[in-house]
Amino acid sequence: MKLYKMFINGKWVESLSGKTFAVINPATEEKLGSVPLADKTDVDEAVKAAYDAFPSWSSVSQTERSESVARLGVIMRKYEKELAELETTEHGSPQSNAVFMANWSAELVEHAAQISRSLMGHVIPAMTDTVTYLKKDPVGVCALITPWNAPIMMIAAKLAPALAMGNTCVVKPPSINSIIGVKFAEMVDEAGFPPGVVNFVTGPGSAIGNALASHPDVDLVGFTGSTETGKSIMSAASGSIKKLVMELGGKNPFIVFRDAELEAAVDNAVHSLFHNSGMSCAAPGRYYVHEDMYDAFTEKFVSKTEELVMGDPRNPKTDIGPLSSAEHRDRVEGYIKSGLEEGARLLTGGSRPVDAPFDKGFWVPPAVFADVTHEMKIAREEIFGPVACIIRFSSEDDALRMANDSRLGLCASVWTKDINRGIHFVNKVRAGTVWVNEHMKLCADTTWGGIKESGLGKESGIWGIEEFTTLKLVVISTPFPE
Ligand code: NAD
Repeated sequence: MKLYKMFINGKWVESLSGKTFAVINPATEEKLGSVPLADKTDVDEAVKAAYDAFPSWSSVSQTERSESVARLGVIMRKYEKELAELETTEHGSPQSNAVFMANWSAELVEHAAQISRSLMGHVIPAMTDTVTYLKKDPVGVCALITPWNAPIMMIAAKLAPALAMGNTCVVKPPSINSIIGVKFAEMVDEAGFPPGVVNFVTGPGSAIGNALASHPDVDLVGFTGSTETGKSIMSAASGSIKKLVMELGGKNPFIVFRDAELEAAVDNAVHSLFHNSGMSCAAPGRYYVHEDMYDAFTEKFVSKTEELVMGDPRNPKTDIGPLSSAEHRDRVEGYIKSGLEEGARLLTGGSRPVDAPFDKGFWVPPAVFADVTHEMKIAREEIFGPVACIIRFSSEDDALRMANDSRLGLCASVWTKDINRGIHFVNKVRAGTVWVNEHMKLCADTTWGGIKESGLGKESGIWGIEEFTTLKLVVISTPFPE
């Protein structure tokens, strides 16, 4: 079994303890390799390397830094196929989704390289006898902690803007997708960033995530993951007051009004939930469907769901791959059990397959629940798996009230032919992203980020890049002698 290494201060290293852990293929449970099991002492080494590299990297011209990030983008294009294959074997992404993710990841890096060159400061001509301006400085050492549901893309989305703006970084990929992290480190190495500018440590969040979030020399934590972990990072980071950029959980409403285009709404509803086996923060977590549409919507939803092919994620015909780990499969099954106990009607899927090839791997056939009520646990908590919860509503006010009645506020969508109704909903719903007659559509130029317990700050687009800067006010006294 291949033994991978971590990347610290420009060198490929084992953990100081010499310990390792295995990474497995979630579709077959086959061991893919072992990676170093880092602990706090390895984190200290990585943060020291990033801290020492900061003065020189932050002094490199914007042109050169942006060019280095552009070079990383070129290297990612070179390995795009390999990256997609890794996403399939290590995360279980069906090929079509993996190819999309590898392409989007490279696009995020290219975008950060391009847009970082256009970020200017501001002159403030407000005080006499001064030259007063705001310049955008890098924040410092960034700890970038990423989740497993989109492993390549999450690293790209944070690392590229951080580097382009002159920060140095310690990246902690999710432990179950550590090999993707190592591949990223190889690409960084090939791009020729100076030693210490980018470091990768591998290990579980409970051990090294906390060491990073609480480290006194870390200035910013860029985190994507669950709301619960986000809260524990906030409290760990509070000891030394760090900047936090957090992309957290979602339980996103998808509202279908009586006048919606039924076919388009159902197509999108099924695809946006199931494309990564439901393991997407932006996936619709609750469908609110007008009572006049409810039966037609549900019937079509079930029939389209039953057309999806679950199986080997390497097969281009596969729509549904495995869940990412046994632990996560058990968690999703716990929600299915809870839905049944609370009286929701399971129309299809949800029971664990036992026959080959599904006797190995972590499979949950896509499940559709009807007669879900807004109060049920499956309608309120993020499931992060292939489970659809379809809820009936009778008045628009009720739909809006239920959409906003959540501690999360990542994204939402509304389906209607009436643009005024759509805009009314856009104005009233509390979420970081709102779509009308769409759900999931994004690109590298747009931005992303939730409100309430779904996050702090923005990722991607120019606004995501600005998160990795801090404004410095400069006032130069320029009195002219009389
Ligand atoms: P998670 O919170 O379990 O883990 C995310 C990362 O944090 C991993 O690298 C993990 O090792 C690390 N971690 C775990 N405990 C830690 C701790 N105490 N201190 C520091 N780091 C720690 O999340 P996950 O299960 O990998 O991902 C699923 C979650 O991520 C879902 O809630 C999903 O909605 C969310 N997510 C949000 C977005 C978004 O953009 N808002 C995008 C993708 C995923």
